[in-house]
Amino acid sequence: ANVLKKDIDHVFKALEFADKESDIVYKKNTVIHNPQIIRDIVKISGCRFKIIAKPKEELEEEENKDAVPAPPAPVEALRRRPPVVCVMGHVDHGKTTLLDALRNTSVVETEFGGITQHIGAFEVHLQSGDKVTFLDTPGHAAFSAMRSRGAHATDIVVLVVAADDGVMEQTVQSIRMAREANVPILVAINKVDKPGVDIERTMKSLAQYGVVCEALGGDVQSIAVSALKRLNLDSLVEALIVQAQMMELKADPGGYVEGVVIESQVDAKVGKQATVLVQRGTLRQGCIVVAGTGWGKVRILKNAEGGIVTEAPPSTPVVVLGWRELPAAGDVVLEVPSEKRANEVMRWRHNQFMKEKQQSDLEVITVKAAEHNALYREQLMKRRAMGRFRVRATGPRDKMIQDDGHPTLSVLVKGDVDGSVEAILNILETYDEHHTVRLDLVHFGVGQLTPNDLEIAEAFNAVIFAFNVDIPPALAVEAKQNNVEVKRHNVIYKLVDEVKQLINQKIPTTQ
Ligand code: GDP
Repeated sequence: ANVLKKDIDHVFKALEFADKESDIVYKKNTVIHNPQIIRDIVKISGCRFKIIAKPKEELEEEENKDAVPAPPAPVEALRRRPPVVCVMGHVDHGKTTLLDALRNTSVVETEFGGITQHIGAFEVHLQSGDKVTFLDTPGHAAFSAMRSRGAHATDIVVLVVAADDGVMEQTVQSIRMAREANVPILVAINKVDKPGVDIERTMKSLAQYGVVCEALGGDVQSIAVSALKRLNLDSLVEALIVQAQMMELKADPGGYVEGVVIESQVDAKVGKQATVLVQRGTLRQGCIVVAGTGWGKVRILKNAEGGIVTEAPPSTPVVVLGWRELPAAGDVVLEVPSEKRANEVMRWRHNQFMKEKQQSDLEVITVKAAEHNALYREQLMKRRAMGRFRVRATGPRDKMIQDDGHPTLSVLVKGDVDGSVEAILNILETYDEHHTVRLDLVHFGVGQLTPNDLEIAEAFNAVIFAFNVDIPPALAVEAKQNNVEVKRHNVIYKLVDEVKQLINQKIPTTQ
């Protein structure tokens, strides 16, 4: 049978993981077709999974019906493209401030001159004509959400380290994540406007984690900035350009478009819209694209200033209108030649999804996972060990509500794919330590809301956050009857904002 190498890796990782548990039975020498499904099942259900072996011809025949990326472009077709940058670092070190400053002080005034909207990514234009594209969600979220589906959107990580605080836990995590993804780091030493900050000490502690700045003889560029006072931001952008030149980032601006969905949402005024980061080809009005289980014919392209653009070459983020079915963040965007072809791909993907669902007993993932499932529990425990908030849902139901007088917000998170759930949990983790209000994650999972989720939420008095997932109407009614709040979102930062709001409401007022 014909097995892709990445599939094999997934199977072996899955089997390795599964092997640690005693009650899992598997048959060796089978071929896996969809690694994501296997990963979901092993990670989340942990109970059982079925791997279907298929003859090579059948695999090939099926693959032909899906849309797939084109083979690598010939060298002579490649043109330079701007770098795509993700800002990471410890909480409170100034990532958001830096992004805000960069977003609104684009070195050259844009022709639209409007206020830059949050569309998930934005471009900074330099007088020289160079450009840098920034992903607009700070922290691990954007990075891991993009990575979870194998869409490698980031070329360079800007590691923000506050000079007054130095290297902290998430600084180290960010370094690790960048390393694992093989993405070079550029250090922004922030808050240098503060009196008495020691830039050299910050560099020295970074060096202990293998990030050796040029000033210390290493090859990592570092720029001292103040995001708040907007000092030295142009040097930062220029350093990014230099880094990009060294990397010789190139893409073919011709041929079929490829890209990745950065954000998607239904806007009250304009309807379905998604921000697409173009990675290959040039997106134009009239292009027909498929992305995940979504597709559309590009009607309008808009930039972050709300201006209409006629074309989006590689590394350009654009808001795309014209979706028939809205894709999700992280979905790979592929141009297809016709609407007929798009429909064919959609049919194929839908069938494939249904088939996989049947074959693999996907329901196991959500049903009573928290109670009966050793691996799931292990995952929860790991999160507890890693994060700062407590994860419950493992104890007997009647002891669940233990009021120790500490104001607590309990939440249950369901998301469409494990990348989005992971991204949300990563952000929630970083917000907890600031508040006198404790954040309790009582349960989390992938897939639509189930009666079990509702039961858990009710027992813990938790608010349900559903990200890009359906809520069966019957469950919505039941939730209402049982006073369980269900909040639906399809933009991660809006979801997180709402969690923060709820937390703030619970902060005790000092008398
Ligand atoms: P994030 O959690 O990394 O996104 O950090 P924020 O951007 O929210 O910044 C955290 C705090 O640090 C805020 O109160 C900012 O005003 C402050 N801050 C950010 N950058 C600077 C800076 O360059 N200088 C000073 N003095 N404060 C800063």
